[in-house]
Amino acid sequence: MSNGTEAEERRQKILIVDDTPANIEILYKILKKEYDILFAKNGKDGIRMVREQAPDLILLDIMMPGMDGYEVCAVLKADPATAKIPVIFVTAMVNEEDEAKGLLCGAIDYVTKPITPSIVLARVRNHLKLKRSTDLLEELTAKLEEKNRELEILAREDGLTGIANRRQFNEVLQSEIKRAMRNGRALSLIICDVDHFKKYNDLYGHLAGDKCLQLLGALLRESFKRAGELPARYGGEEFAVILPDTDAATGAQQAERLRKLLADLALPHAGSEEGVVTVSVGVVGGMMTHGLDAEWFIREADQALYLSKANGRNRVTSVACEDGDDAVSAPQGAPEASGAHESNGHTGQTLHAVSQSAG
Ligand SMILES: [Mg+2]
Repeated sequence: MSNGTEAEERRQKILIVDDTPANIEILYKILKKEYDILFAKNGKDGIRMVREQAPDLILLDIMMPGMDGYEVCAVLKADPATAKIPVIFVTAMVNEEDEAKGLLCGAIDYVTKPITPSIVLARVRNHLKLKRSTDLLEELTAKLEEKNRELEILAREDGLTGIANRRQFNEVLQSEIKRAMRNGRALSLIICDVDHFKKYNDLYGHLAGDKCLQLLGALLRESFKRAGELPARYGGEEFAVILPDTDAATGAQQAERLRKLLADLALPHAGSEEGVVTVSVGVVGGMMTHGLDAEWFIREADQALYLSKANGRNRVTSVACEDGDDAVSAPQGAPEASGAHESNGHTGQTLHAVSQSAG
């Protein structure tokens, strides 16, 4: 086969377990041309060889001193590692009761002594064909599952930066909002945008632009590692971070930390106010006690981001959604509050914008 799989190409192995060497000899002569043959002279050795060699089929004598064939079969069928290997009993006993006993303990078939070569060969061929198909199917299924896992990861990851993509971000934001509401917990969302990124691309080229985004992706990944935190590439030069169990003030501090980290890296950017690559950031956060949805969350964070841009870039603007009171604390170290605004009435929430100016 050109597109060969392991199951297709491999020569199949048969284990013969029989206490009479003459019987092993007969079976060996019938089967050696087409198959690799292993043998054991008692049940205990037989079980050991099954575990070590993983044969494709077992020809098992019933009458043996020590462990008989039924016991051996029962042991093999009880172990998940060996349960699927087909067992054919080879026996002089032919009454119905014995046959039923053998089949009940998990054997797939019977051949009777004295051996008729054509019958043994035909039965063995049939069962090994079936075994090969089953192995092939299992192998292909495993490959398919592996591919699906890879695709699933690719579909949820941003190709350039390796952090979550928009799709994963959307899924996680939805589920985190629901979870926070169910548990009466806070949730924050950070959205940031590289300042004058178009100019950066124009000045340094798109490869440098990609490098800049990769660096920001790495910075986000390193900065937001706490369980549940999800940094994501939201699109273009926009990034987002979901922060479970985080109120707006803490979210703003986290955002400020990120803003400062990037500014301190001092990546040259001749087209920006600071002469280095900077980000403008919007944060929205608070207790999830009302019917807020992802759309609302993103809109508010976008609006805060817009304020950061409008107020001179390289800064964080945070919006706290509070449950009907005016108590809003500016993020620690925030020198000024640039104002508050009321948000859409349908949520019934009061929103406060606190701008934290740049360093
Ligand atoms: Mg025997």
